[in-house]
Amino acid sequence: MSNAKLASKSHSEHQTVINISEQTIVGGADFLIIGGPCTVESMEQMEEVASKLITAPVQMLRGGVYKPRTSPYSFQGLGIEGLKILASVRQRYNIPVVTEVMSIPQIESVVAYADMLQIGSRNMQNFELLKALGKTGKPVMLKRGLAATIEEFLMAAEYILSHGNPNVILCERGIRSFDSYTRNVLDLGAVAALKQLTHLPVIVDPSHAVGKRELVASLAKAAVACGADGLMIECHPLPEESVSDARQALSLENMVELVESLRPVAAAVGRYICQVEELAVA
Ligand code: PEP
Ligand code: MN
Repeated sequence: MSNAKLASKSHSEHQTVINISEQTIVGGADFLIIGGPCTVESMEQMEEVASKLITAPVQMLRGGVYKPRTSPYSFQGLGIEGLKILASVRQRYNIPVVTEVMSIPQIESVVAYADMLQIGSRNMQNFELLKALGKTGKPVMLKRGLAATIEEFLMAAEYILSHGNPNVILCERGIRSFDSYTRNVLDLGAVAALKQLTHLPVIVDPSHAVGKRELVASLAKAAVACGADGLMIECHPLPEESVSDARQALSLENMVELVESLRPVAAAVGRYICQVEELAVA
């Protein structure tokens, strides 16, 4: 049982399908794959990422420009300059982009440049931010808090929905536990439960969940099999040189291979991963 109202299946028996861009949809039979680096580092980096990933095809690019870093001394992101890089590759490669917004004053510029707003784990219960996101019409990808219960996760979504924005996508990204071998523990039980409790699309981020690149593909397959509506995966032209989350970044080649290896898994559970010919190229 959950106290969620607008997010609950009893409010809408139909699965919510969200149009992120003309060609990019999440929540229907088509499976959504988002890829890109943890952090936008330069135009060259994002060019390389976009030009390679559209061959998979990955249907949406990610890259942080406002970064929630554990240390205030770590690189905090390129800010507006990074948003301009995202907007440029978005337009030239005809691919939608998602990036994190950390505070209310950042909403306006992120809305102007990106197709979807990411709310990071550390802000899942920043209620004033969630209310403000309710007033934008843009799709919002809400990441589960580091130690949030399923109920807290749904109620955070409820804040956005009840303030007027129906376009909410939930993202399971692993929760904290006792074993430091993996960065977090991917809670696929939560994905299965959310698919029963809510009509909202649910996507999985295996990169932040497991924290080690050699384990990402296995978890990605498991997420598809267990009914997720999409995946978000970190990758980089030179994974070891990523300015953040280097240990979990896939190479671009591995990312393309991973998309291919997910096709039969998706088909087995009645989902479809689009082919490159189906996407209009810029
Ligand atoms: C990210 O997606 O880069 C990120 C910071 O994720 P999370 O908020 O899940 O830690
Ligand atoms: Mn990251």
